[in-house]
Amino acid sequence: MKFKTGEALLAQCEKEQISISEAMIRRELSISENTREQIQERMARAWSIMKDAVEEGRSGKLHSIGGLIGGESRKMLDWANAHRGASSSIISHASAYALGVLEVNASMGLIVAAPTAGSSGVIPAVFMALQEEMGYTDDQMTMALFNAGAVGYLIMQNATVAGAEGGCQAEIGSAAAMASSAVVELLGGTPGQCLDAASDVLSCMLGLVCDPIAGLVEVPCQKRNAAGAANALVCAQMIMAGIPAKVPFDEMVTAMYRVGRSIPYELRETALGGVAATPTACALCDQIFCNQSKERK
Ligand code: SF4
Repeated sequence: MKFKTGEALLAQCEKEQISISEAMIRRELSISENTREQIQERMARAWSIMKDAVEEGRSGKLHSIGGLIGGESRKMLDWANAHRGASSSIISHASAYALGVLEVNASMGLIVAAPTAGSSGVIPAVFMALQEEMGYTDDQMTMALFNAGAVGYLIMQNATVAGAEGGCQAEIGSAAAMASSAVVELLGGTPGQCLDAASDVLSCMLGLVCDPIAGLVEVPCQKRNAAGAANALVCAQMIMAGIPAKVPFDEMVTAMYRVGRSIPYELRETALGGVAATPTACALCDQIFCNQSKERK
């Protein structure tokens, strides 16, 4: 099975009466010599690493290489558990888990780049919060990862998932689109609704620039992962409520890519603009590199 656009994927799903996750497994089978069991085992391993990263992230014991983040996931969970808060339990848990996975990434721990290290918090966070809330099995979560993988694959085929090329909209935007599509499938939505959710997420994050302080994947990356997780859940919910996307997924991917190519280089991972160029960020940057050179002496 081969598909390179959302439209082709939906046509295959319709023709064979299958889900996006099943279509993705069949694609893997058609291009590799692996068995279905081997393909599923590999994805189960990815899910297991994601769950471990959420656990490690919420321990509250991590410190990032640059020293800009560490302990935020634990703080947010403690606060959310003690107060009614401003968002539902699932959104507040998902955002806390996303903060934590970025702590793991920034302290050189093991994460799954889904689709990149900088956006590695979104999918584990959304999946874990949903599994806890809804009681899905690990097999169901593993299957949903194939759906997320199909969306990521389509974005890579037709645009980019690299912040240096397309800005943060391409990195965290893609991760959130992948997560949202998978959530819709888990909730019983159709393949068309899955891609509608992915389209809506991309439209909500369109234009987001890549501007990490000191060039480190810490700030604003960590909080953007949390916001991306919330965005994924909100868009999935809107689709399930019967509010369809106005612009098809393929067109939105093209729009995202065009916007990405028109973002100036200062706002594409060079740390020369946006948040990274604020006076406070520049002072933090000096502090980080000054401390590191002292440590080396
Ligand atoms: S700001 Fe840049 S480095 Fe940070 S998560 Fe977004 S794309 Fe990645």
